[in-house]
Amino acid sequence: MREYITQATYLIASVLFILGLRGLTHPDKARRGMQYAAIGMLVAICGTLINHDIIDYRWIAGGLVLGTLIGYPLGMWVPTTALPQRIAMSLSFGALAATLVGVSEYYSAFHGGEGSIAAARMAALGFEVLLGSLTVTGALMAFGKLQELIPSQPITYRGQNLINFGLFAAAVGLFIMVIIDPTKAFAFYGMIAIAATLGVLMVIPIGGADMPVVVALLNSYCGLAASATGFALGNSILIICGALDGASGFLLSILMSKAMNRSFANVLFGAFGGGAPTEAPTGGSGLPVRAISVEDAAVQLAYAQRVIIIPGYGMAVAQAQHAVRELAELIEKRGGEVKYAIHPVAGRMPGHMNVLLAEANVPYDRLYDMDEINGEFPQTDVALVIGANDVVNPAARDDQSSPIYGMPILDADRAKHVIVLKRGMAAGFAGIENALFHAPATSMLFGDAKSSLVKLVSEVKSA
Ligand code: NDP
Repeated sequence: MREYITQATYLIASVLFILGLRGLTHPDKARRGMQYAAIGMLVAICGTLINHDIIDYRWIAGGLVLGTLIGYPLGMWVPTTALPQRIAMSLSFGALAATLVGVSEYYSAFHGGEGSIAAARMAALGFEVLLGSLTVTGALMAFGKLQELIPSQPITYRGQNLINFGLFAAAVGLFIMVIIDPTKAFAFYGMIAIAATLGVLMVIPIGGADMPVVVALLNSYCGLAASATGFALGNSILIICGALDGASGFLLSILMSKAMNRSFANVLFGAFGGGAPTEAPTGGSGLPVRAISVEDAAVQLAYAQRVIIIPGYGMAVAQAQHAVRELAELIEKRGGEVKYAIHPVAGRMPGHMNVLLAEANVPYDRLYDMDEINGEFPQTDVALVIGANDVVNPAARDDQSSPIYGMPILDADRAKHVIVLKRGMAAGFAGIENALFHAPATSMLFGDAKSSLVKLVSEVKSA
């Protein structure tokens, strides 16, 4: 009877997970989607806890308390700008859990257990620990790079790919060996050690700025490891969850690479995006930059009929989303029309801008995808760029020699006037010059985006 209840809870949880993923396809359903997924997880945990194989709940209770103590602050207090590294950290926990389950299953089979493991089960266990341990160290490296605990520049050396390939081949060799003869413990543990080393070596040659794509890819490895755990344990929810996780992580990494106009191979081996934004060579370029005062910018905005707001990473850093909404509402009250142009890779994670603007209660129907809005810039009085840089860099469209050439951009430079809010002339993620900041129609309003917006709001009110 208990088994039937457990399976029923797994079925309900799986449906809720799928509904959760579906909810994430649209901003106004995203919150609900997350709630479905959270309820699904709760149902799955409850279903697992009634399993008759459990004879002692003390360790489990300790685990639940510890998980809650770590999970709550991670979910509630980490700012959205730090989400990529937070995800990398929880990914590493998930992969560690999968690896430890694999090790425990293997160990107990030969210590007090049946004394052997069938080939199919051994293959699932091997796959689980191989991908799991690779993901643990890979995700930790990604976390370190994103948090700048370790240098975010790509670390490369001669023969790197050859060494990595050699290690991969050795791990696969041990994997096959342990399937043929599961008693070969050295092959099992050796495979884990090699995969963990490979996780480090595969991530160090990739620049810190490409880490979000790497995290999405590792997410898919972790999903596959969880699926393999499900096969090894005969647990259907792990198989389903792992498959969902693996497939969505993989698709996400492809979509992110596509939005940056980069191939997978280029992200993984291109040593691009090697670090924190640097000061652009703007000062040295000698090109003119027109600064504008808050008062003058406020007058332009107050009398504009059509305004397009382009948020970017700087809006997230400044946490300026509420001030943005306030300014937009003021312009609308004065009879202007305000739209938000959302670039798929603005910020540092997919959907970053949507999440922030939703948090500030910006109506979803004002958010426009790049393809929908690009044609409207020539008729726009003011394009207001808030902490965005690469996603409005015309070099991506016009300059074949640019490292970001081919990346689709928002055509802000085609608007009648452009006002850019940023602190100085520093480059964005790609570390390159942006000609938009020197264009005759562009005015720079220097300062932290939030404080500039707060001043703009008070000026527009009195205009
Ligand atoms: P960028 O990183 O190109 O530029 C952000 C700009 O914000 C900087 O030039 C910075 O200039 C400014 N800024 C920083 N802090 C503040 C602040 N407090 N107030 C005002 N301005 C601030 O951002 P974009 O959003 O335009 O582009 C995102 C980039 O990230 C793209 O290159 C994309 O490929 C990449 N990327 C995106 C991922 C995603 O999934 N979204 C994943 C991986 C990479 P200054 O210091 O002068 O103020």
